[in-house]
Amino acid sequence: MQSLYSNDAPASANDERFDGLLRLARRHFDVMAALLLTGGEGRRRVRACAGLSAVQLARVGLLGNWACADGLYLVADAQRDASLRDHDLVVAAPHLRFLAACPMRAPGGDVLGMLYLFDDRPRELDAAQQQALLEFAGLALELLGRDEADAQQRQEIAALRDSERRMALAIAGSGTGIWDRNVATGEIHYSSGWKALLGYADHEVGNRIEESYTRVHPADLDYVKATIAAHLEQRTAAYEVEHRLRCRDGRYKWVCSRGKVVERDGAGKPLRMIGTTTDITAMRTLAERLQQSAALMTDLTNEIPGMVFQYRRQPDGESAFSYVSAGAEVICGLSAEQLLRDAQALPALVHPDDRAAYLASFEASARQLTPWRLEFRLQLPGQALAWRQGEACPRRLEDGSVLWHGFITDVTERKQIEAELQAFATTDFLTQLANRRHFMQLLDAELARLQRSPGQCATILMFDLDHFKAINDRWGHSIGDQALRHFAAILCAQLRKTDAAGRMGGEEFAAVLSDADLHQARHFAQRIQGELAKTPILHGGEQIFLAVSVGISALRAADASAEAALSRSDIALYCAKRGGRNRIECH
Ligand code: GH3
Ligand code: MG
Ligand code: MG
Repeated sequence: MQSLYSNDAPASANDERFDGLLRLARRHFDVMAALLLTGGEGRRRVRACAGLSAVQLARVGLLGNWACADGLYLVADAQRDASLRDHDLVVAAPHLRFLAACPMRAPGGDVLGMLYLFDDRPRELDAAQQQALLEFAGLALELLGRDEADAQQRQEIAALRDSERRMALAIAGSGTGIWDRNVATGEIHYSSGWKALLGYADHEVGNRIEESYTRVHPADLDYVKATIAAHLEQRTAAYEVEHRLRCRDGRYKWVCSRGKVVERDGAGKPLRMIGTTTDITAMRTLAERLQQSAALMTDLTNEIPGMVFQYRRQPDGESAFSYVSAGAEVICGLSAEQLLRDAQALPALVHPDDRAAYLASFEASARQLTPWRLEFRLQLPGQALAWRQGEACPRRLEDGSVLWHGFITDVTERKQIEAELQAFATTDFLTQLANRRHFMQLLDAELARLQRSPGQCATILMFDLDHFKAINDRWGHSIGDQALRHFAAILCAQLRKTDAAGRMGGEEFAAVLSDADLHQARHFAQRIQGELAKTPILHGGEQIFLAVSVGISALRAADASAEAALSRSDIALYCAKRGGRNRIECH
């Protein structure tokens, strides 16, 4: 930039050259005055003049139509020339008589100016003089060309200055400093902005590269030096490195240093390198904080037992996981990466009996934007059936997609305990039949079925072992228990899938037979009695025969309650007892 500025010649330099040319022409042609007018139509101006006073110059006027000027224009005596006779300078002082004009034509043909010779006596120009005038005009044209080149250069310099000023402003505003290093001498110069970046005043930073390295964080120094060396040795196209620099107050700032060798000697040895240093502390801090929070999130989701996920379903039905925690491995035997690649891998593992419910639950959650919550079974290869519980909250996105955030946990153990508790609460411990409470629920369900579908039938049978007290008394309580289990087994063996039986207490049992009328129920009771008679309990070489009394009644859709129907069977049972036991009575 500096070398360009030094070419910035004063505006008058060419004017003096024009003046000199005209003085020369005046002397050469021995005329009173020479004049140079330049500029296009309407912008004509006196460029130089020799021999006319300022007052006379002001009266020169336009002097002819340049567009028509063709070759030399010679007027031997203006007083005899019709077009010039009345001109100010002819009529009054200096009373011009002779006039010669030579147009200055640009290569394109435009007339850029006109060179005039004036004299106050009539005269002629011989051929040699005419040739000389043409040559003078040629010289003037050349000068004019240089004039224009100079103006253009001045404009370019002004533009460069502007752009340099803008660049300087931009650099100052971007937290960037500039350095310029002489690689050969080890000198390095920093811009004021560079020094200010680290809190130094202009005079507080030396210009030796050795001093520069003392400001680099010791942990970064080797890396920085290696990166610079790689560029100096032309192994990299440019030099760029992020490192810490010590500020004036002793604290370190993260900077990004970029540079490039701009001059090498013939052998490729680096001579000069320039570059920038940008403060990136804020950016680094932000990036570190982001990284920390991302790591925290990953840690959190990975440490939570279960699988945390983000799942997205597009309006076209396409769906995918956008996040899956490491727990996927335990929950569904697939890696997080596998699930991220293929979301359908999960429903494929859902137990066939639960798959429809699984898909429908997501469907409903998406439609109503209600939380997804489901317990389902997974059939994992080589493993026992596993229970999973999923929960997720849906959110509608702007493009119509639904985005769920949720988790799936392993609830196998809980489901097993639940199942055990359920069995415990509903089963009679001794006989493993339904207990009274559970049997009554089954009976309620059967009654509800009848009420839903009239025309169907069902029967209730009540059983009471005969003289059971005597068995206890004679053989002991444990044989009594064995007798109860024996009867329960016989009863169970006769049941169809749709029937149910329960122990109502002591040595009383009940059964409900679906789609069986009284006749079929009686047959059922007879089969039980037959089996009982055929299979006595064996104890110490003795046979213990059991007998049972049975009361039967039909379950009716009109029954107010299961209890009411059961009491009818009870009445029938009472009749069977009263009738002599080991009997079957229908209500
Ligand atoms: P009936 O022919 O009139 O039915 O005479 P029963 O002796 O069978 O009737 P009762 O009601 O007089 O006696 C029932 C007995 O069943 C009394 C009770 O000790 C016995 N019992 C009740 N629950 C159990 C049990 O869980 N185990 C055993 N071993 N005996 C029980
Ligand atoms: Mg009884
Ligand atoms: Mg009894």
